[in-house]
Amino acid sequence: MKKYNVESFNLDHTKVEAPFIRLAGTVDGAIGDTVHKYDLRFKQPNKAFLKMPVMHTLEHLMAENMRNHYPNVIDLSPMGCQTGFYLTVFNDKNPENIAEALEKALLDCLAATEIPAQNEVQCGFAKSHDLEGAKNAVKEMLDGKNTWHKVFADE
Ligand SMILES: [Zn+2]
Repeated sequence: MKKYNVESFNLDHTKVEAPFIRLAGTVDGAIGDTVHKYDLRFKQPNKAFLKMPVMHTLEHLMAENMRNHYPNVIDLSPMGCQTGFYLTVFNDKNPENIAEALEKALLDCLAATEIPAQNEVQCGFAKSHDLEGAKNAVKEMLDGKNTWHKVFADE
C-alpha cells in the first residue's frame, strides 16, 4: 500500500476495535518540546458513526471539559469520518494520563445540563446540536473504558 503523509491513512481501519485511545503521532520540537496527537475513537470505523449534531455537541463539551482536567491540551477536533476525535497535547506521551483526563471530562459531559457556547455568537452552527445523543455516545464510550488501551482486534 502507498505510504501517505497522513498517519491515519496508513492505519488499517479494518483491524482496529473501538472504542480506544491511540497515540497517532509525535512531533519533536527543536528545543526538546514534543507534541502528541491522540486518536480518541468512539465508533467502529465503517460500522457505526456519530451523527453530526451529536459529534458537534461532543466537540463543544469535550473541548471545554478536557481543559479542566488536563493542562496540556492544544486542540480537540472531530474526525471527518464521524467515528471519533483527535486530541493534540504537548509534552505528554503517556496514554494513561489521557485516559484518566478523558474519563473525568466524559463524566462532566454526562452531568451537563447545557452545551457550552451554543449560540450564534460563539458557534458557527448553533442549531446543530444534540445533548441527549451526545450523552448516549459518552455512556457507550465509558462502558468500553476497560479496553481503551487495546487498539487492534487481534492484540
Ligand atoms: Zn460549534
